[in-house]
Amino acid sequence: MRSIVDQLIHSGIASKQDIALLLQCKGDDRAYLLEKSKEIKEKYIGKKVYFRGLIEYSNICAKNCYYCGIRRDNKKVERYTISDEEVLEAARFAYEKNYGSIVLQAGEISSPQYVHHITALLKQIKTLSHGKLGITLSLGEQSEETYREWFEAGAHRYLLRIEASNKDLYHKIHPNDHLHDFEVRKNALLTLKKVGYQVGTGVMIGLPYQTFDDLASDLLFMKELDIDMCGMGPYIEHAETPLYELRNSLMPLEERYDLTLKMIAILRIMMKDVNIASTTALQAIDPIGREKAITIGANIIMPNITPQKYRDKYFLYENKPCSDEDAEDCIKCLEMRIKFAGGEIGYGEWGDSKHFSGFGLFLLSKQIHARPTDGNANRCWAIRCKI
Ligand code: SAM
Ligand code: SF4
Repeated sequence: MRSIVDQLIHSGIASKQDIALLLQCKGDDRAYLLEKSKEIKEKYIGKKVYFRGLIEYSNICAKNCYYCGIRRDNKKVERYTISDEEVLEAARFAYEKNYGSIVLQAGEISSPQYVHHITALLKQIKTLSHGKLGITLSLGEQSEETYREWFEAGAHRYLLRIEASNKDLYHKIHPNDHLHDFEVRKNALLTLKKVGYQVGTGVMIGLPYQTFDDLASDLLFMKELDIDMCGMGPYIEHAETPLYELRNSLMPLEERYDLTLKMIAILRIMMKDVNIASTTALQAIDPIGREKAITIGANIIMPNITPQKYRDKYFLYENKPCSDEDAEDCIKCLEMRIKFAGGEIGYGEWGDSKHFSGFGLFLLSKQIHARPTDGNANRCWAIRCKI
């Protein structure tokens, strides 16, 4: 096992079979993997942990993913969309508390009114923060035109989990229709890159039907796609979803949790300078789950700043944490937890993916020559690349 870790450290790559073996390591081998990942994080990323204030903007969704508590056909969910005033208030809170960035996340809607509404909100968030708040979007699959409109309005990072990079598995956890097409989702990731976003993807870990080979392929998929950011977490069942009936076939929650830590560790070693989120689902399993992930390799945390009254309506899975705390409580407890994990918060910083920044600088030099008349685009790039 150690030789696989060492190979990954030196070349950043290993075979699917070797990665699958590594995902099953135990005892001293597991300790070695986590220790090396920790060392690499310290060397390439440092101690800083960056905040993304998470605004769960709407639980209205046109899609029907078999695992998700807010899927279209769950009639028990009371649907909401946060008012503009409340979104701006949450963004102002993040700005005043020096979070550096926010994430706007929601179910998937693609109507022209919705798209333009988000554009207007993005511009207002940029204005109220004097351009200082970084904005990540997680609003699902959209057209290239939409991605471009939102990018030009000020969003610069986008999270779109592939959920499962094995097409067969993908189709087992989604309905088989045009709204849930693996190729469309994969192409959306390529489109996001083309438009210029820092692109993040990820998967759920411990899904029904999922094998170690699948998870190894997921990591190789991320490497091949050359992602800038990753958000992956344990799959947690929800009673009002079709996959719930397979709950007895799942590995125990603690194992899903441990497997997530190993996935993070291996990704950190394979892709040394990407941003890796320590996701909320980790905390749903272990009260200090996110802190452990920070210690061994993750560097992003998303404190929930959704107005309190909406929190219990965005239940993607059971035991979702922090639903009864307000944003102030959340930040105090997080500060303590990150310190405990040996990290320090990068207040007021965007904390962009170093993986992207290097590439962005390279592109910037090309873009200035390629698009001499597009002053705005160049200015955007300069800001994004922190020049
Ligand atoms: N609708 C957008 C999309 O699907 O890309 C963004 C919001 S969606 C709620 C965000 C993520 O929640 C999904 O990418 C999925 O991985 C995760 N999720 C949904 N149901 C889950 C579950 N039961 N357990 C763990 N994660 C879940
Ligand atoms: Fe909708 Fe996203 Fe949930 Fe799928 S995962 S049902 S797209 S909110």
